[in-house]
Amino acid sequence: MKKVIYPGTFDPVTYGHIDIVRRAVDLFDEVVVTVAVNPSKQPLFSMEERIEMLKESLKEFDSKVLIDSFDGLLVEHAKQVGARAIIRGLRQISDFEFEFQMALMNRKLSGDITTIFLMPHERYTYLNSTVIRNLASLHADVSNFVPPVVHEALKKKFPRK
Ligand code: ADP
Repeated sequence: MKKVIYPGTFDPVTYGHIDIVRRAVDLFDEVVVTVAVNPSKQPLFSMEERIEMLKESLKEFDSKVLIDSFDGLLVEHAKQVGARAIIRGLRQISDFEFEFQMALMNRKLSGDITTIFLMPHERYTYLNSTVIRNLASLHADVSNFVPPVVHEALKKKFPRK
């Protein structure tokens, strides 16, 4: 059974992330979407909220997608769940430098885990969670970019006065 891990902050999950999950599900038997604790980021949504939104947004994939979280070294977590590869999304050239560095470092740490880059549909290449949080804080309509459960959660985080 070929398993892959898709790590990220998912603060919150967007249609861009879901596009990548869909492509990964086509290629692998099981995709573990893992919410990373990132000490350098102060998230808008708690770990529990991010996991709940992912579960709701990815339920169409049923048992092919599992959701978990980790705090520590990604390659260790990948091994623990039995994944042979790490999936990352590449939106544009600006993602490349950071992703390339991280992929090579992870390969140094663990030569038997391969990083695979997937590109989303063009309509999601300008989408990231930071932009969504900023738009939602200004009460812009983000319903074209995030699933309904996320849209509702954002409205609660940023109520109109
Ligand atoms: P971001 O804050 O950039 O959305 P995440 O840590 O949640 O970051 O991203 C997790 C992974 O998903 C990364 O590999 C990132 O490049 C990828 N990703 C994020 N948004 C998109 C998108 N719109 N299309 C494709 N991949 C994406």
